[in-house]
Amino acid sequence: MTDLELKSTSTAIMKPEVKTPRSTRAVMVGNVRIGGPEFAVIAGPCSIESHSQFSETATAVKAAGACLLRGGVWKMRTDVKAFQGLGSEAFQFMHQVLNETGLGLVSEVTDPRQIEMLDDYVVMYQVGARNMFNYSLLKELGQTRKPVLLKRSFSALIDEWIKAADYVAHGGNENIILCERGIRTFETKTRYTFDLNAVIWAKQNSHFPVIVDPSHAIGIRDMVAPVAFAAAAVGADGVIVEVHPRPAEALSDGKQSLTIPDFKQMMKTIERILEATDRPLLKV
Ligand code: PEP
Ligand code: MN
Repeated sequence: MTDLELKSTSTAIMKPEVKTPRSTRAVMVGNVRIGGPEFAVIAGPCSIESHSQFSETATAVKAAGACLLRGGVWKMRTDVKAFQGLGSEAFQFMHQVLNETGLGLVSEVTDPRQIEMLDDYVVMYQVGARNMFNYSLLKELGQTRKPVLLKRSFSALIDEWIKAADYVAHGGNENIILCERGIRTFETKTRYTFDLNAVIWAKQNSHFPVIVDPSHAIGIRDMVAPVAFAAAAVGADGVIVEVHPRPAEALSDGKQSLTIPDFKQMMKTIERILEATDRPLLKV
């Protein structure tokens, strides 16, 4: 009998209610498992800009230990005049890059019609923050069996985020990974406000794996890695980060993109944090 139990029986004080965290249901994403004991690092450019940029980034992040690749084909930009992604033009060289690195790709679907078009290239569909409330898109993704990375909208309550995941699950696709990517608050110094509380809440109260996007959450290159470290320390299942070989030339999100040396450095520290918390890095 523990001290606490002894005390409660002897004094008839009610035992404090100890909440048992829900266990995470791991999701197979291509040939990697997210939501097990391992910590997953997904990395790549914000947007796929050219064959050479995608290939250079993919090769570098693979060598530094990423287990999956990210890269936007269609972009959801606030400004209609901003780069909207290469779209299907990128298909001309994507297979070649993916075959060269052997990494699976995560890419965003901004419209239900893109699900079929991307199917041949991705191991996981991404739903962006701006589409978390797009229930027709979520329903369509529920009809597939491919994993869905569901970003939290910057204006969504945790409850709305979980209910959006239920839309996908309701169609029969239980392969869902949640991603916290920062919310809007009154603060303007950083791009968004990273909600670490939400990560901890979702880990303890849902069975979905939870990863973190520090790049969009904070929006400032030199502050991206510390957010990733916090995520690793509190038990997130992984991170998804933006990397560009020459961020100053990036067509989107250069300010928050890590350089290749930055990414390598981040990986080294993540490994040390994982070691301290008895968790392995997910390796491919
Ligand atoms: C992205 O990951 O490319 C992206 C646009 O992120 P978010 O939807 O979180 O803004
Ligand atoms: Mn981006």
